[in-house]
Amino acid sequence: MQENNFDISKLTSFKVGGKVNRMYFPESVDEFVQVLKSEPDAVVVGNLSNILVSSYGFDGVVICTKRIDGINIDGNIITAGAGVRGTKLSKLAAANNLSGLEFMIAFPGSVGGEVYMNAGAHGQMVADVLKSAKIYCPERGVITLTNENMDFSYRTSVCQKKSYTILEAQFELKPDTSENIQEKMNENLSFRQNKQPSLTLPNCGSVFKNPEGNSAGRLLESIGAKQMAVGGVHVFEKHANFIINEDNGTSYDILTLMDKMSSAVEDKYGIKLIPEVKYLGGNNEKEVELCRKLKIDMI
Ligand SMILES: Cc1cc2nc3c(=O)[nH]c(=O)nc-3n(C[C@H](O)[C@H](O)[C@H](O)COP(=O)(O)OP(=O)(O)OC[C@H]3O[C@@H](n4cnc5c(N)ncnc54)[C@H](O)[C@@H]3O)c2cc1C
Repeated sequence: MQENNFDISKLTSFKVGGKVNRMYFPESVDEFVQVLKSEPDAVVVGNLSNILVSSYGFDGVVICTKRIDGINIDGNIITAGAGVRGTKLSKLAAANNLSGLEFMIAFPGSVGGEVYMNAGAHGQMVADVLKSAKIYCPERGVITLTNENMDFSYRTSVCQKKSYTILEAQFELKPDTSENIQEKMNENLSFRQNKQPSLTLPNCGSVFKNPEGNSAGRLLESIGAKQMAVGGVHVFEKHANFIINEDNGTSYDILTLMDKMSSAVEDKYGIKLIPEVKYLGGNNEKEVELCRKLKIDMI
């Protein structure tokens, strides 16, 4: 399915974004590959929980994987389409007494986005459980990469260095009791409820990556970030590395607030915080300037 002039803001976890020229929602891996071939410059998105989309829109093509949601279980191996929600996968693994995906219960990514970002939490991450991924590579077509070929490290994978698209992923899990798995999931959820915003407060997860051997949240707290706000957005009062879009904030508000936060940490500690969140847009020069200053990935 294809839509023109699509208002993407309703799909982003920040509830921010403008019009996208052309948006595709393929319903199978085969259809996804066909669209990738016919739209070589398209940007692929999953559940848009780690992307700041410009309020000024994006003059380009976006493919959203949300309808590629097939799942297969074979013993302790689960194969899932790029658009499968991490929360759904985590619950399914638990229902089959399989451990390794408990961390996914806690945040709103899709399989494709989670593999691309090497998402992780609570001492677990994608790199620990991914067996292989089916990838579309413009030069070679559809290929399969094993875990070793994925070049995983903190919040990154080979897919961020080459223009690889994740079509499907296979996870190898460990059998465990349902009590143990449920206990881990409950711990993860209650940690979130106490320390991090739920999605009823529009946000995009951690804004900055942790610098090596340090915590972005602690550095930001120490420079008073919890009191910072710009326009309709402010820093979350319980965790300084989250920005909440409380009152119809814009992408420019968010980038300006990120710049204030990052500059204050750099002035005090000489540490440059690098954004974890990515940016899609480019129609507003002031935003693009801020993106370059922040060293945010412009996808
Ligand atoms: C409340 C909240 C809590 C969060 N907590 C955590 C956390 O604890 N740990 C953590 O790691 N993250 C966390 N996040 C961030 C986010 O959920 C993860 O980064 C997640 O992996 C992003 O998945 P997505 O489907 O939303 O990706 P998107 O935001 O749609 O995309 C993210 C990036 O992946 C690329 N991408 C998406 N799908 C594909 C694909 N199929 N092929 C190639 N590239 C693709 C996009 O182009 C983009 O560059 C949190 C977010 C929120 C809102």
